[in-house]
This record gives sequence, structure tokens and C-alpha cells, in this order.
Amino acid sequence: MSARAGIVVTGTEVLTGRIADRNGPWLADRLLELGVELAHITICGDRPADIEAQLRFLAGVGVDLIITSGGLGPTADDLTVETVARFCGREVLLDTALEARIAEILKPMMARYTGPGAPDFATVRAANRKQAIVPAGATVLDPVGTAPGLVVPGTPTVVVLPGPPRELQPMWDKAIRTPEVQEAIAGRTHYEQQTVRMFGLPESGLADTLRHGQQSIADFHRLEITTCLRRGELEIVTRYEPDAATTYAELVALLRERHAGKIFSEDGSLVDDQIARLLAGRWIATAESCTAGMLAARLTDQPGASDYLAGGVVSYSNNAKEDLLGVDAALIAEHGAVSEPVAEAMAAGALRRFGADTAVAITGIAGPGGGTPDKPVGTVCFCVALGDGRMLTRTTLLPGDRADIRERSTTVAMHLLRRALSTD
Ligand code: ATP
Ligand code: MG
Repeated sequence: MSARAGIVVTGTEVLTGRIADRNGPWLADRLLELGVELAHITICGDRPADIEAQLRFLAGVGVDLIITSGGLGPTADDLTVETVARFCGREVLLDTALEARIAEILKPMMARYTGPGAPDFATVRAANRKQAIVPAGATVLDPVGTAPGLVVPGTPTVVVLPGPPRELQPMWDKAIRTPEVQEAIAGRTHYEQQTVRMFGLPESGLADTLRHGQQSIADFHRLEITTCLRRGELEIVTRYEPDAATTYAELVALLRERHAGKIFSEDGSLVDDQIARLLAGRWIATAESCTAGMLAARLTDQPGASDYLAGGVVSYSNNAKEDLLGVDAALIAEHGAVSEPVAEAMAAGALRRFGADTAVAITGIAGPGGGTPDKPVGTVCFCVALGDGRMLTRTTLLPGDRADIRERSTTVAMHLLRRALSTD
């Protein structure tokens, strides 16, 4: 037994990429938690024929549940309800009780608009009457904004949710609790999902290990493994039914055996979370050239960063390196601004300047110009300096374009920092 679902995201603004889809990924996570297998996420514009084609496609591949997002507003381009009703072969009816509820929601909203140009109540109410027209036999999910959601039973059952994420998310639990949805997903299976993260291993190295696992681990096929390269880290997500837990343990043992030093997380935690923990009780400063503050920004993505982040210097020019961090001009002249000695001097300068006990420096060539045969684009030097005089210095050659190199640099810096603080 299993339960499968599909998601139809509607909205021309999402189709064209003007706004990024936040509903598909969010619903995907919820389905995963429920043990419902997600077959497809489709995206189309606000055209009924396209929405209907996607509904037909998903029904054709045999999903038990379809969830739509968007197109429930009062305006003429909001056509999802009509389309779903037609698809399910149900007529639409005015739900007068719902119409009255929407009118109540609108009253205080209307009161905020006064003076010339304000819409009159009768017009708004007529427009929102449209939102009270629902397919016969559907269960209405009370509006969070003004648009109600719907559960339309059938094969497949269709859950119709509004587009704005702040309206869609609170409606999800109610939708799931309806008997119609419970019945549609009755075949769901409980899955475990675990994440291992590695750094410093090419994807091919992992592929090789997984091939090995296929041979050496009995029941390997019971693990659904997906690997992906993100920000220069390898993420290995494994899904399995609870009784395959020992098989998963064998996989983790194999990963440890072959890549011990590269695994930094077995519990799904991000390097950012780990750094936040490692920095407790410390006082850190950054000195950044090619990343120009991106590392400081990344550290401050964590709530509570003010407990340990003193500040940072964006020392993009040589003058800034000299004046703000006390880097010796002669050192820059001798080794170049992108060099290990300069990275070390920048870190030492940041320690002094901020009275910190931990400092990270980054200096590199993000490109596209500025590379030389000796130091091609992507050459980045890092130094982590600690108050006790210890320094960890590295030079890496990072792949990608300017944006990739700058972002990867922050990841390398995070991992170097992690190493320096873990061996404390
Ligand atoms: P409304 O009553 O606000 O019109 P609606 O259900 O008709 O609700 P849409 O018109 O499809 O929803 O979208 C309204 C707004 O909600 C969009 O302009 C966008 O800002 C946001 N939104 C819609 N779909 C998504 C999505 N998939 N991801 C992120 N934001 C979305
Ligand atoms: Mg709309």
C-alpha cells in the first residue's frame, strides 16, 4: 500500500519566475512528513485549459491526492475553483452561509479604506460572492484571508488552497484532517528520513562508495538515497521504512569507514548551526576582501549572533587592508593581496582591531578578471586565527563564476572555522 500525491502550482508570476514558488516545496515537506509519496509538482499560469491539463495528467498517473495552490481570489483571472469543479464533474453552487462569513471578514478591511477612490461595499461584496461559489459536495476550509479553501472528494481527491503562503499554510492542517483527505491518503506509509552532510568530497567519490554499498549491504535497495551538491557540500538524504533502520546504520558505517574526515553532520545539522554552537563564549571578528561581508552576513543569519560576533571589516582595497587591519604594505607588495601571508595578517589585524579571540580572513580572486597563471580566478586564501596564537591557513582553487566563488568562499571559511574550533 502507498499513497501518492501531485501538486499543481498556479500563477503566471510563478511560471515566469517573477516570484519563486514557496508553496510546492513547503507542501512537499508536509507530504513527506505524512508518508505520502510526492509524484510531481507542476507549475502553470492562470489559464483554465493549462490548469485542467495538469489535473488530467496527475489523475492519469494515478495519484490519490492533488493539491492546488493559487487562483482563489475575487478577480477574473482567479479561475481555479471553476476549473477544478469542471474537472471533477461537479456543478458549482453559491454557498450563502460562506458568502455571509466572507462579508463579515470584509467589513473591517473595508473600514480601513475611506475617502475618494475607496471601493464601495456593494461592489466588493459582489466580487467576493465569486469566492463563495463552490463545487457541490465540497468541504469548505474557512478563509485565512478572504479566500476559502476546498476539499473536493473524488478519484483523485483535490485540495484547493490559496496562493499566498501565509494563507495556504494555516489551512493545510484543516485540509488534512478532513475525512475525505484521510481516506485518499489511507495507504500512506511512515518513512524515516535522515541526512548526512560531507565537505571536501567530490560527488564521484560518493558515487563510488554507494556502488560499493550496493554490493556489500544486504537490503541496500530498501534505502531511497538522494545526493546533492549544495554550496560545495554534499548532502545525502536517505528515506526508508522504519524496519530498514539497521540497513541505514550499515550505510552510515560504510560512509564513516570510507570518508571519516569528510563527514561533518550525521543528524542533518548545518555547518551554520554547528558554528553557532562552537562560538558560544567566544568573540569573533571577520576580515573579508573578495566576499565583502558575506561571511559576516552568513554568521548573522543565526538568531543570537550578537552574543559572539564582534563585527567585520570589508577590506576590499589594499589601503583598507593596511589602514583598517594594519596589514604591512611591504607584505602585500611582496606576496600580493591574495596570498597566505596577507590572509594571516588580515586575521591577526581583525583580532587586534576588535579585541576578539577568534578571527577569519578571506582574500581571493572572484573574477571574471584579475586572474594570472600563478593565481587563476577562483584562488582564495583563508586564515582562522585564535587568541592563543594558533592559525589555520589554507589556499583553495574554487570552481564556478563570480557568484559561485564568493558563496563557496563563505562555506570554506565556515568549515575551516569549524575545524579550528573543534580541535580546541
Ligand atoms: P488572492 O486572493 O491574494 O488573489 P489567490 O489564491 O488568488 O489569492 P494568487 O492570485 O495565485 O492567489 O496569488 C496571490 C499572491 O500570493 C501572489 O501574487 C504571490 O505574491 C503569492 N503567491 C501565490 N502563489 C505563490 C507561490 N507558489 N509561492 C509564493 N508565493 C505565492
Ligand atoms: Mg489572485
